[in-house]
Amino acid sequence: MSSLADQYRRRGQLQGACLCGAVQISIDGDYVAAVGACHCSRCQRSAGVLWGAFVGSAPAVTVTGEVARYASTEFSERAFCPICGSNLWLRDSDNDAADYEFMPALFPEAAAFPLISEIYTDCRPAYVPLSGSHATKTRAEWEADNRHVEGDMP
Ligand SMILES: [Zn+2]
Ligand SMILES: [Zn+2]
Repeated sequence: MSSLADQYRRRGQLQGACLCGAVQISIDGDYVAAVGACHCSRCQRSAGVLWGAFVGSAPAVTVTGEVARYASTEFSERAFCPICGSNLWLRDSDNDAADYEFMPALFPEAAAFPLISEIYTDCRPAYVPLSGSHATKTRAEWEADNRHVEGDMP
């Protein structure tokens, strides 16, 4: 996690739920009270519009209800409610200790979280301009330092 996110680290409780309420997510422990946005092709296709997420530490997370998982890459999963289809999280699938990247809108309190980073800015569609002074990275800048999948989706 970047030092930028470190200043937003919190310890406490947050409660979230999907649209239909069948999936309940409790965070009791460490999380980052700030949101990052991604405009990579997979995030765009999955979210339908803007992909944004905040980090919850795995030991802090309890999930109840049935969850569907899609292996969107060889090393990551995207989870969603099989009843209402709400996106739940993106997470590394090859590491049990991996952070959860939660969809902020599941958690009412996250509405107050600031946007602190935006990646794949050169892939951003015209209809989601994001303003402010948050950190930004283009696709090439991000992929130079982070695990990724080459190319776009089929
Ligand atoms: Zn649901
Ligand atoms: Zn992405």
